[in-house]
Amino acid sequence: MVQLEQATLEAFLEAVRKLDAGFAQLPRFEAQVPGTEEERIAEALAETAERLRDNYPYFHPLYAGQMLKPPHPVARLAYALAMWINPNNHALDGGRATSAMEKEAVAEIAAMFGWKEFLGHLCGGGTMANLEALWVASQVQPGKKILASEQAHYTHKRISAVLQLQCESVPCDALGRMDLNALATRAALGDVGAVVVTMGTTATGSVDPLPEILALRAKHGFRVHADAAYGGYFGLAENLGTESALSFARIGEADSIVIDPHKHGLQPYGCGCVLFRDSSAGRFYKHDSPYTYFSSAELHLGEISLECSRPGAAAAALWTTQRLLPLVRGGAFANGLERGRAAALAFFERLRRDDRFVTAFAPELDIVIFAPRAKSISEASGLSRRIFESAAKRNLHLAVAELPTEFWAANLGTMQRDRRTMTCLRSVLMKPEHLEWIPRIWDELSAASSEVLGGEGAHTRRAAE
Ligand SMILES: *Cc1c(COP(=O)(O)O)cnc(C)c1O
Repeated sequence: MVQLEQATLEAFLEAVRKLDAGFAQLPRFEAQVPGTEEERIAEALAETAERLRDNYPYFHPLYAGQMLKPPHPVARLAYALAMWINPNNHALDGGRATSAMEKEAVAEIAAMFGWKEFLGHLCGGGTMANLEALWVASQVQPGKKILASEQAHYTHKRISAVLQLQCESVPCDALGRMDLNALATRAALGDVGAVVVTMGTTATGSVDPLPEILALRAKHGFRVHADAAYGGYFGLAENLGTESALSFARIGEADSIVIDPHKHGLQPYGCGCVLFRDSSAGRFYKHDSPYTYFSSAELHLGEISLECSRPGAAAAALWTTQRLLPLVRGGAFANGLERGRAAALAFFERLRRDDRFVTAFAPELDIVIFAPRAKSISEASGLSRRIFESAAKRNLHLAVAELPTEFWAANLGTMQRDRRTMTCLRSVLMKPEHLEWIPRIWDELSAASSEVLGGEGAHTRRAAE
């Protein structure tokens, strides 16, 4: 049975021929590339295919662990097609077509947040995008501090160290969101330049309460940076909870936004995006490279980004994907997000009703965290790891996380709280297919858990064998 999609390769060859025809006026030539003998290429590639087998099956619905979503076939193909040209989106000299595609694709993302006038571009990923946002924040409010929640992405601390900014953590509440009282108290000291609002934390998908943070901005004058690297597209989903929906509804009021097309936007890695509501942020990027920018008075993307060379192919892939799947509510793309979220809710319900497990708060996006019920947090922590391994043997791939015991507080019952954090299981249900695979995922988890915990499942299985 074929697992890896190949049906689109015909359309791809056709596109290569169409691209080729665009250069028909050039005199014929033979590229002098060593090692292009068909046989040797096939041998080298076969070795690579062999090596690449040593991966979890990220493309398969039974991979339900980390934030890994297969790129859309059209993104893969558009990226590969652009590779025959290998454009560089630093400057128009290096990537005329793909620079235009980047501007269009980024404008479509900005429009999703309600922005028409803005400054923005693609970059290597969420980390680079956040770095640019914090850097601009530090230029607008020099010498002031950056605040981010305890559950914010770990790179904010590191980025701040690189930029020599002071970054402080704000505690989280029992739902993994930034604690508003703690933020209000901290902001009242008056030395806060920017608050990072995580719109979907990496660990649990918790959404910081943006409306209330915007109210504090009005009072204290800090910048609001929305780190929506993971959750940014969920504003398109119509099955969010009330509070998360309210936060996403106001994301356009942030001063800057980061979103990762390579997380939920069906793109290959190497595609992050940073947006600034005030397009005059461009002034901070000013530099005078003596080599570039002479081909045109039009904007070169290198004039508004920290990175120099960047793959135009990433822009081609994103542009093509958005052509096929526009970023609109009620569209096929939004439906994919809604299905992942529905899968998370269904999975959470099953866990909640089963005594073998202890659940935390209900998922806000499409990430579920849970642990086996045990005498104590430390015992549950050990069992989590064993279930993780046992599930993997059954081809069900989950993830393990270390999270505050407080997240489970309401449901721990008699479990002894002998640790401040619990090693738990985490499942990111990013694929639309996850919804129809929940019964199978549940069966595998159930069997794996029974094996580890002992209990009925294990007995029936042994009897059957
Ligand atoms: C993934 C993530 C990042 C980092 O993005 P990369 O693309 O991995 O560099 C930052 N913030 C959040 C909330 C994330 O989920």
